[in-house]
Amino acid sequence: MAALPPAWNRSPQPFAELISAGVIAARVAELGAQITAEYRPRIEEAEVVVVGVLKGSVIFLADLVRHIGLPVLIDFIGISSYGDATSSSGVVQITQDLSRPIDGRHVVLVEDIVDTGHTVHYLLENIATRRPASLKLASLLHKPARQQRAVKIDYLGFTIPDRFVVGYGLDVAQKYRNLPFIGYES
Ligand code: 5GP
Repeated sequence: MAALPPAWNRSPQPFAELISAGVIAARVAELGAQITAEYRPRIEEAEVVVVGVLKGSVIFLADLVRHIGLPVLIDFIGISSYGDATSSSGVVQITQDLSRPIDGRHVVLVEDIVDTGHTVHYLLENIATRRPASLKLASLLHKPARQQRAVKIDYLGFTIPDRFVVGYGLDVAQKYRNLPFIGYES
């Protein structure tokens, strides 16, 4: 007999699974190993700071850093982007800044998704002015169909189709960030 779906999938707003928790975990482990290999030779020259963009990157970051076998620092930056819930206007404001300076440190910026690319473009430019030793971008997801700004994603989890996705940190009106998989409204 088939098991009941988990409680969140019995909610009035069910989500179809796009990327399972297991597939996410395997890919995040690979990204962590890649980051470890690339920064291990450089950790003596400068500290590595993993910077999460609040709030969407929190779950990805929490899993990713546990697969980085180096003593990294963790910090967060909060932003709000004007526009409606499902489209980015390109106007980004920092609502919570980093807690410590990052000059002379290797920075890995961690995002949940690169959609139009406006948010990450703004953040990379902003962080670059603070003179980090190096600056790279990790993003769990990339939706190339909607991209308006060219952005180089150094560590990418998955390329996805043009769907509004939720879970594993991504929200609908601040909810469902705690879904363990990436889903879409079906
Ligand atoms: P941008 O368009 O600037 O690249 O994306 C900015 C932000 O929009 C992302 O960090 C994310 O918070 C939100 N976003 C973009 N696409 C999606 C999506 O499919 N689902 C959810 N929940 N948020 C998204």
